[in-house]
Amino acid sequence: MSDRFELIVVGAGPCGIAVGAAAKRAGVSCVLFDKGCITSSIVGYPYYMTFFSTAVMLEVGGVPFTIPEPKPTRREALAYYRRVVAHWDLDVRQYEEVLDIEGGEGDFTVKTRRADGTDGLYAAAAVVVATGGFQAPNYLDVPGEDLPKVRHYYQEPYPFYDQDVLVVGAGNSAVESALELYRNGARVSLAHFADSIDRGVKPWVVPDIANRLERGEIPVYWRHRVAEIRPSSVALRSEEDGSITEIENDFVLAMTGWRSDHSQLREMGVHIDETTGIPSHDPSTMETDVPGLYIAGVIAAGHNANKIFIENGREHGELIVAALRTRTRPST
Ligand SMILES: Cc1cc2nc3c(=O)[nH]c(=O)nc-3n(C[C@H](O)[C@H](O)[C@H](O)COP(=O)(O)OP(=O)(O)OC[C@H]3O[C@@H](n4cnc5c(N)ncnc54)[C@H](O)[C@@H]3O)c2cc1C
Repeated sequence: MSDRFELIVVGAGPCGIAVGAAAKRAGVSCVLFDKGCITSSIVGYPYYMTFFSTAVMLEVGGVPFTIPEPKPTRREALAYYRRVVAHWDLDVRQYEEVLDIEGGEGDFTVKTRRADGTDGLYAAAAVVVATGGFQAPNYLDVPGEDLPKVRHYYQEPYPFYDQDVLVVGAGNSAVESALELYRNGARVSLAHFADSIDRGVKPWVVPDIANRLERGEIPVYWRHRVAEIRPSSVALRSEEDGSITEIENDFVLAMTGWRSDHSQLREMGVHIDETTGIPSHDPSTMETDVPGLYIAGVIAAGHNANKIFIENGREHGELIVAALRTRTRPST
């Protein structure tokens, strides 16, 4: 065994970092592992995105997030979270994936694999899983989805100039990517199974997308689902009458959301609700039904990733550390 800690955190996204900062402040020895870099989910977000939250609502570890505008860009958020890690001098082992968690309260063993292929073995009294909800896309589950022209993550519009692009979905990611593509010379259309954009679309974006759709500048297929993706076309099926419309297509951006990977929690014996996808846990401590094993951040949201985000997931760190301290406080 190479290392022993009071707390191991799996995942160094904003909510994992918040746990690390809370632990550091409380004097709890803690190490964080991330299979990528710190805040790797945000690194993979659309390059030019602006958060819907104000900077102050994204603060973690009591470190002020000061910018001239109310809402930060992706780049500002990346710089901020890097600063939090440095401020608290967090021990983050980047590019070290947690493969397995064994044992139980007071005596967990965490197995990792580093980027150079070597294995790590660590011990901890408690473990927090903060692996987020951006790991796997919600697949369309249609023939042709494995074609290289299909993307489930979008970063920037430039690869799509003068191309026929179908954006699937009508949430923030779909709407914002469609607008960026439209303004950067792609022939973009939108398909969605409902008959309007999602209610949660950022209010300041709504007039822009509404006008583009109304004027036919971005052709929209309401109440249509993708039936099949072919090398140079897409077949869309009407929800009304099942009829098929085939449109020319070079790229498909399936902006249909992402989901948490619960496999590690399941293997540890945590009960996952079949309907909601929520791992069984006490919301006042974030401890799962496996004693000593905690969850933090968006992984606690289950299938509805919009229920927990940075604004509220950042509070989990303090709850977890408070619970740990209560446990370890000697009785008088
Ligand atoms: C486009 C977009 C805009 C958003 N805007 C906002 C906003 O304005 N306000 C807001 O509050 N939220 C917003 N969100 C949501 C927010 O970004 C997420 O809720 C947040 O990132 C969740 O933080 P997290 O720490 O729980 O997970 P993540 O940020 O996903 O971090 C999880 C980390 O775990 C790591 N990991 C996974 N598996 C392992 C493993 N086995 N071993 C080691 N490491 C592992 C990953 O590499 C990752 O770095 C937005 C999301 C998107 C997609």
